Amino acid sequence: MSYPFSFPSSSAVGAPPLLRHYIGGEFVVSDARFENRSPVTGEVLALVSEARAPEVDRAVTAARAALEGPWGRFDVPQRAALLNRIADCIERRFDDFVAAEVADTGRPVQQARTLDIARGVANFRTFAQLISTTPNEMFESRAVDGSDQFSYVVRKPLGVVGIISPWNLPMLLMTWKVAPALAMGNCVVVKPSEETPSSATLLAEVMHEAGVPAGVFNLVHGFGPNSAGEALTQHKDVSAITFTGESRTGSAIMKAVADDVKEISFELGGKNAAVVFADTDFDAAVEGVRRSSFTNAGQVCLCSERVYVERPIFERFVAALKEKTEAMKIGYPDEANVDMGPVISHGHRDKVLSYYHLAVDEGATVVTGGGTPTFGDVRDGGAYVEPTILTGLPDSARCVREEIFGPVCHIAPFDAEDEVIGRVNDSAYGLAACVWTTNLARAHRVSRQMHTGLVWVNTWFSRDLRTPFGGTRHSGLGREGGRHSLDFYSELSTICVKL
Ligand code: NAD
Repeated sequence: MSYPFSFPSSSAVGAPPLLRHYIGGEFVVSDARFENRSPVTGEVLALVSEARAPEVDRAVTAARAALEGPWGRFDVPQRAALLNRIADCIERRFDDFVAAEVADTGRPVQQARTLDIARGVANFRTFAQLISTTPNEMFESRAVDGSDQFSYVVRKPLGVVGIISPWNLPMLLMTWKVAPALAMGNCVVVKPSEETPSSATLLAEVMHEAGVPAGVFNLVHGFGPNSAGEALTQHKDVSAITFTGESRTGSAIMKAVADDVKEISFELGGKNAAVVFADTDFDAAVEGVRRSSFTNAGQVCLCSERVYVERPIFERFVAALKEKTEAMKIGYPDEANVDMGPVISHGHRDKVLSYYHLAVDEGATVVTGGGTPTFGDVRDGGAYVEPTILTGLPDSARCVREEIFGPVCHIAPFDAEDEVIGRVNDSAYGLAACVWTTNLARAHRVSRQMHTGLVWVNTWFSRDLRTPFGGTRHSGLGREGGRHSLDFYSELSTICVKL
């Protein structure tokens, strides 16, 4: 599988390719550059143009102009057709997208095929269908003078939407916002993570191929502070910021948009719990927790980093999860049956390892893992860490309270339902939880008491894109998904008519 930018169309022969911004329908470079490195080997994959305030300003100006052009007159069927065309174009270049995502992240090819890029396609198709079938509200009423009236609601675009996305599921999370924003008639300026610029660059090519009018979709590469991200949040002509990333970045963005009172939607961090009751289908729960702890090397905001197991099955559960974890294959993205690749970068590897060391300092027992694997080949230059299981920490330990965002879980025993609900909810975060039980009444009772935006019962990571998605407290602000996305990405306006 080769990196899809192997033809250096915009740089000297032999040099790494140069990834460009996409502004006003054109691919452009800027003087500042940064490196995109492979987390598998550490080698430089590409240089990336870095946008700062002037480039961001050009992108926002192009987006504003596009709102006034033909795009502003696209009706719902035209926008739905365009979204489906974008999905078709991604499908035509499916292998390129897979290669881009795998190169940037080192994740298993199979995951990129079945999850990341497949969901990118699904995001466009889902919102094409939703805008085609979602009615607007209408109410009939009687006014004080006895006359009849009706009120109906129209949806208008917000204007220019700034989309700032993270590196952990680059294509999936970026298109989760691009699709509904375009569906509602907005223009967008997208700032992908500096760690994962490749699939976003391909998406810009697809937008071009699909005939998206110039200025409707703009892409600027760069970092957050003092770079493209900050310039986007501070730009006066940006109407809304939709952001996925760390909670403290969300807090910084909230401050940056406060003076202009921009609309915001935040999908932030998590410290999610899985609760395993003794009556669970044991094998299903062990495999479920293995997936929910180690998928994507633990770099999913929904991963379970806190596992609570009812005391009668605690020892057996820890032993079974250890065995399954040690059987996981860590390796190259395109190896057969590979389960886990590296984490995103050397910097992130060091952060995860620092938590592994902190856990030991805090008194944890390391059941398995706790360090880095060695391969004796080029992967030793990559950003691999071992999948790690910890036990023995109190609920007050930093490793049990702070998001680590790596392949790690801490398992603790519990004795009673109310006790475990209290422990799960005693967190600054509130994104997702899993409940493993065969007792139907308990499943519903416990799920309703979780202070999280999402609860899975006997499963994990299954998503119906029509349902609301988001977190409570430090895990986010607002909900996206289904009509909740349509609501966020549009300005609702009520028209009251006297008959
Ligand atoms: P991050 O906050 O470091 O970066 C996310 C994006 O914000 C990047 O594009 C970055 O360049 C940009 N950014 C950083 N500082 C900025 C600033 N001051 N102004 C504007 N932009 C800025 O997050 P990350 O490390 O890329 O992603 C991992 C985090 O994302 C984890 O905390 C994870 O839980 C969270 N996440 C949440 C969800 C969800 O749906 N709730 C989904 C995926 C990831």
